Amino acid sequence: MLPRWIQLFHQGSADDRDRLGGKGANLAEMTNLGLPVPPGFTITTNACRAYLENDRCTPSGLWDEVRNALAEVERRTNRRFGDPACPLLLSVRSGAKHSMPGMMDTVLNIGLTDATLPGLAALYDERLALDCARRLQQMFGTVVLGLPAREYEAVLAKFAGVGGQTDRLDLTARRQLLAAFTAIPALHGLAIPDDPFAHLEQAITAVFASWNTPRAVAYRRSQGIADDLGTAVNVQAMVFGNVGADSATGVAFTRDPNTGAAGLFGEVLVDAQGEDVVAGIRTPQPIASMAAEPRLRPAYDQLLEIAGRLERHFRDMQDMEFTVERGKLWLLQTRTGKRTAQAAIRIAIDQAEEGLIDRAAAVRRVEPAQLERQLHPNLDESQPLSVIASGLPASPGAASGRVVFDPLEARQRGEQGEAVILVRRETSADDFPGMERAQGILTARGGMTSHAAVVARGIGKPAVTGCAEIEIDEAAGTFTAGEVVVHEGDEVTIDGSTGRVILGHVRTIPAGLGGETAKLLAWADRFRHLAVRANADTPADAARAREFGAEGIGLCRTEHMFFGDGRIDLVRDMILAESTSEREQVLVALEALQVEDFAGIFRAMDGYPVTIRTLDPPLHEFLPRDDEEVARFATRRGLTTAEVRTRIDAHRESNPMLGHRGCRLGITFPEITAMQARAVYRAALDCTADGVIVEPEVMIPFVSDAEELRLQREVVVSVAERLFAETGRRVPVKIGTMIEVPRAALLADRIAAHADFISFGTNDLTQTTFGLSRDDSGRFLPDYVAQGILPSDPFQTLDRSGVGRLIEIATTLGYQARPDLKVGLCGEHGGEPSAVAFCDDLGIDYVSCSPYRVPIARLAAAQAALASPDGSSSLSDGKIEGAAKSEQERSFAHVGDGNAIGYLD
Ligand code: PEP
Ligand code: MG
Repeated sequence: MLPRWIQLFHQGSADDRDRLGGKGANLAEMTNLGLPVPPGFTITTNACRAYLENDRCTPSGLWDEVRNALAEVERRTNRRFGDPACPLLLSVRSGAKHSMPGMMDTVLNIGLTDATLPGLAALYDERLALDCARRLQQMFGTVVLGLPAREYEAVLAKFAGVGGQTDRLDLTARRQLLAAFTAIPALHGLAIPDDPFAHLEQAITAVFASWNTPRAVAYRRSQGIADDLGTAVNVQAMVFGNVGADSATGVAFTRDPNTGAAGLFGEVLVDAQGEDVVAGIRTPQPIASMAAEPRLRPAYDQLLEIAGRLERHFRDMQDMEFTVERGKLWLLQTRTGKRTAQAAIRIAIDQAEEGLIDRAAAVRRVEPAQLERQLHPNLDESQPLSVIASGLPASPGAASGRVVFDPLEARQRGEQGEAVILVRRETSADDFPGMERAQGILTARGGMTSHAAVVARGIGKPAVTGCAEIEIDEAAGTFTAGEVVVHEGDEVTIDGSTGRVILGHVRTIPAGLGGETAKLLAWADRFRHLAVRANADTPADAARAREFGAEGIGLCRTEHMFFGDGRIDLVRDMILAESTSEREQVLVALEALQVEDFAGIFRAMDGYPVTIRTLDPPLHEFLPRDDEEVARFATRRGLTTAEVRTRIDAHRESNPMLGHRGCRLGITFPEITAMQARAVYRAALDCTADGVIVEPEVMIPFVSDAEELRLQREVVVSVAERLFAETGRRVPVKIGTMIEVPRAALLADRIAAHADFISFGTNDLTQTTFGLSRDDSGRFLPDYVAQGILPSDPFQTLDRSGVGRLIEIATTLGYQARPDLKVGLCGEHGGEPSAVAFCDDLGIDYVSCSPYRVPIARLAAAQAALASPDGSSSLSDGKIEGAAKSEQERSFAHVGDGNAIGYLD
């Protein structure tokens, strides 16, 4: 009968990640490629799921299958599990479908008992056997029996110092250390059984259970990994990197995961087991040092050759774990390597240019979130920097914050919005929530592949690791760097790009688009359907948006211009005017200022459309609030403060977000809309005279009825036509509206009759669809997300089922009424990748977002287009007929993706 729960490595393949997990699937693939992989088998994720679903009982038949598979491993290794003369030792390692570095458990050296220790010593030497035995004690004690790690660490520190450098211990010390470890379980009334198969059973079960440890659950939450996948368990013959100077263990990347530079990158520890590298217990040597050691040189050469082979096979940068046992190389793992944003971009481009992947694959390789990190701030080097120490540049970007030593405290203070830098000797998986909330991470120990480095890179936090120049005294709440003593709560800055640790807060400069990023985005632009515009209110923002590749402005919030120097007084005069004529006088002055603003924006956006929205917010937002301001205004206008207060009170509303705002202002005060329209077209005509190509679009906000739009349109058109008649010149007149309330979405066909374009204001549309205040939801929305009522904050991630449904309806109705209607989305969601994908599905024209998010939207739009290369819409379930705009109208050059292994896996 075929085994139900188990697959031997040589029977599996890389395609079976669901069942074998990432590690198991790739061990199988490497075995079948003929690479030197220690024999073993994978217990599938099905078995773990069965265990979790069945009240933590292992599925029946599992242990028989394990015994059978073990017999095959014994045959291949020529050793026997539990055999005193020639013992086979096993590693038991977790491996889920998605990499969860260090989050789940591993137990090494299973099968080493009092009875087999002499046999292992005979095969290697006693030094190795004792080292393996104490490692088994420690891992079994902490992982399987759940004993406190610190008890083992305290004993270890007595023998080998705080760093735990056991490679230097002599035989007597090794024996004493083992005896001390062996005594620890008894102090807790526990014992480690002396039966190897019992070890194996318990270790496998512990790995199953580690799927649900709080740290694993927290990691899955943060990475969006489903809770019901379960982990596979890989049981594999042990090979030993701790036999002596001709043995080693290490981690190697086929390219530099920080910069993306070609060439083998990694670290190696001589005379060590794999856990030492990841735990950062000793600071490893660069991998190239193997080449200089004659006993390791052949293994190094072979590793170089295998690295190239694996990268070509998987068509992506690989992260490999290896061990050299007495000069012989063994591969223990390969996986798609995590990388910084900078490296992701460089590798994608290099691999495409090397012909390993095509451009479409390159575009798909870089996550939009990585690009966002790439745009993170760097240190402003022009200021004096008080560098107090230097470590490894483990994860790029600069961050300042107050020093905190306790990860729990880092988490709490981070959650309260405080900027903290988590400073640790080294980090472990339990520190993850603190790392996640800190601005940056600084560790005294650990290399570029230590837990701190790997996790920080993964979550895009700046990190400096292996900073041996600092001495941490947690009890005293200080760390010292040479003469400098830094106390908990002091501000420091870390530069994860260079490894510098700097005293105090340091100014940063925003990262721009580097040449490689620009190249990747240019490739992305060839694939996308959606245009990407920016939300920008000033000429400077507009210019920045252009640098980031914005193809126009999708939303210019004119009210932001009203807060500028000296303007607020004019705006207040306009609002508090007692008559239309008084208001019109003020409007003349405001118009002059608006003409300047708009002209600046048109010039920055030469040749691209600019959507200018008429005044939107409730007027009271502009009025003076505190006594001082009221008094100043009263003096200026020659009024008493009481008179001013009375006028202000007249504008007070109980629910201003649903009150006198948006087009309702323009309905009541058409002279305001007229002033803004005149400013738009005067600026447009001025710019045209200078040869600038302008495409103004006037957008009326917060419409809920077609009649509102019709009336506002009339105001704008008549102003424009009068100006054109006066000057004898014209520019195109395009008038549209925002869809921000459900009624407008449901009546979009009627609205479209008066609109050249519509643009979804998803901030307000989310607010009005949920009946959920944009300004107040922060108080309770986190509870909704924590309780699983909502999957995420709908103001950040578009609510497809509700708000999205309205968008679909409005789009369909809009196109029905007016097939040439231009449709966009300009809420904050316009730069959020899943909303961009949704818009691509809908077949609308553009998204618009803040300038810094423009590159992200460009990439996300290309990836969305590549995900549905035939232009098929997710609406093709027939619910919304005709919503997807004809894709034939758009030019779309699809290049097939020849890469089978996705980076996002
Ligand atoms: C919106 O409501 O989505 C929008 C873009 O307008 P504002 O955020 O200015 O209300
Ligand atoms: Mg709005």
